[in-house]
Amino acid sequence: MRANCFVDKQTLRVEHVPDPQILNPRDAIVRITSTAICGSDLHLYNGLVPAVRRGDILGHEFMGEVVEVGRAVKNLAVGDRVVVPFPIACGSCWSCQQRLFSLCENSNPNASIAEALWGRSPAGIFGYSHMLGGYAGGQAEYARVPFADVGPIKVPDSLEDEQALFLSDIFPTGWMAAENCDIHPGDTVAVWGCGPVGQFAIKSARLLGAERVIAIDRFPERLRMAREDGWADTIEYEETNVHDALTEMTGGRGPDACVDAVGMEAHTPGVVGAYDRVKQVAMVQTDRPHVLREALLACRNGGTVSVPGVYGGFADKMPLGAMVNKSVTIRTGQTHVQRYMRPLLQRIEDGDIDPRFVVTHRVSLDEAPQAYEMFLHKRDECIKVVLAP
Ligand SMILES: [Zn+2]
Ligand SMILES: [Zn+2]
Repeated sequence: MRANCFVDKQTLRVEHVPDPQILNPRDAIVRITSTAICGSDLHLYNGLVPAVRRGDILGHEFMGEVVEVGRAVKNLAVGDRVVVPFPIACGSCWSCQQRLFSLCENSNPNASIAEALWGRSPAGIFGYSHMLGGYAGGQAEYARVPFADVGPIKVPDSLEDEQALFLSDIFPTGWMAAENCDIHPGDTVAVWGCGPVGQFAIKSARLLGAERVIAIDRFPERLRMAREDGWADTIEYEETNVHDALTEMTGGRGPDACVDAVGMEAHTPGVVGAYDRVKQVAMVQTDRPHVLREALLACRNGGTVSVPGVYGGFADKMPLGAMVNKSVTIRTGQTHVQRYMRPLLQRIEDGDIDPRFVVTHRVSLDEAPQAYEMFLHKRDECIKVVLAP
């Protein structure tokens, strides 16, 4: 099959690789019909994630048709159309029983690497380095889906691929970011970063009852999408002092909740000398931890800061004093996608939201390397790329 493979920093290549095989009774093989490039894939692309090897297949947002099932998979059949969640979860460990699916204790065979850095390991993730399991990703013609009896859900024929595809990650991720804001009627939510996750956080905050959403970015096309699709007020951070603007827009009190949908490029540093390396990386990415600092300072007293953005290592100069003295609650985590897929599919079917609004580019899998380049540099007003194998 063809697959989008990592070669080196900012170098990808669509290569011919062996087709995936059923390895365990709970596996399924999916023939991929649509897959997407995620903002977090850019951390891999930029070479900032350790334990990514030449030939690794990228991609964790994908859907398609089941073409083979292991003998223990009873809920799926060949021919079913499914969308697959990005965290791999067994469904039966302690974390899965608490519905903390992105913390599954059985899906990362390389847990020791993650434990050395984070103390404990989260779940394995498709196409996201050997530190998170080394699973082949979904930017390919086929993928092996472990624990296929737990993760994938069937997609009704009435929906197009692009309406269901983002249940794999960015819609649940934006939703969980908004849910973590503990929104009450009348609340104002500020969202830093109007990339795909930020866009879904904006819409989700609305659906969860926020009275006002304020979106912060610098790209005009993203701010336009936030205004037109998300009915958000917007702040262009290069020409406006964000803290002052938020203070003014909220009668001096600050937003009730702040979402950091930017994350930090200093993602998952190496294990040996991790701290030094992250500092080194952070120095060339100074704007990234800046968002979390700004959110902690701008948030109203007693408010919430929700962090869906990817942070991998350590950050200096966090305003802990602001956090403590203002009684700020911080909520974060990789998305427990399996928890949200069915209710959000229902929202899509009910017409509460049509996820297609975020798609700006559709290209073939063969053009994936060029699409990463375009997405990285936000060329051609690129916000979200869907690839069709
Ligand atoms: Zn993603
Ligand atoms: Zn589990």
